[in-house]
Amino acid sequence: MRSFINSIKRFSELTLDDVLVEMHTHSTWTDGAASPSEIAATAEQLGLQSLFITDHVRRESTYCEEYIKETSRIAATVKPRITVGFESKIADYDGNLDISKDNAARAEVLIGTVHSVPDNDGFQHPSRMPQEQLERAEYELAMAMLEARSADILGHAGGMSLARFDEFPLDLMEEIIAKSAATDVAFEINSRYHAGLLDWLLEKLEKYNPKVAIGSDAHSLDEVGTCSKLLRERLFGR
Ligand SMILES: [Zn+2]
Ligand SMILES: [Zn+2]
Repeated sequence: MRSFINSIKRFSELTLDDVLVEMHTHSTWTDGAASPSEIAATAEQLGLQSLFITDHVRRESTYCEEYIKETSRIAATVKPRITVGFESKIADYDGNLDISKDNAARAEVLIGTVHSVPDNDGFQHPSRMPQEQLERAEYELAMAMLEARSADILGHAGGMSLARFDEFPLDLMEEIIAKSAATDVAFEINSRYHAGLLDWLLEKLEKYNPKVAIGSDAHSLDEVGTCSKLLRERLFGR
């Protein structure tokens, strides 16, 4: 199923074509504003070569089979190569994802992200946690997922802290990047969360050379391709 993932390149190998991609989008199947076919048509208009549709999933989600069927049908009708999968939260400190075995097996790609923090009573929402505790939890959950290799991509590393406090400790981020390189789980450059860190990130990605995913976390059509555009300009000057 997930053989395509071999085509995700290391940072130093990225060509202009490799950057003409959108690897993180949400559709009306979950909290996105546009349907998979509208997202695919937009990706085609933008000249993207590859599009990942990666709606949210939980262990109890029941929409997944229909979603994959619909999205796979669209794949035959548009130019960009369509890959359908899920974004799933990292559910525990063993790095497991909040997804059923069946749905993990159905997915062509899995993005693992921190959305909330597991504790004894279930999950804590990041908005209720002190800064240092949230940073530590985000770091540990990310490292556990990388160690377990339960997803193909680590999505928006440090994102909860960055969204709430506008910062994430750079020494911890650097360890996460080094770990991505060592485990071959792709590190996502996410334009929604990482735009302000981009200079620093590019320097570290060059140093450690992990596989890299390029995602806008698009929830609407005008966000599709944002990260691609950002990197096209920064890495290739066009
Ligand atoms: Zn997310
Ligand atoms: Zn997302």
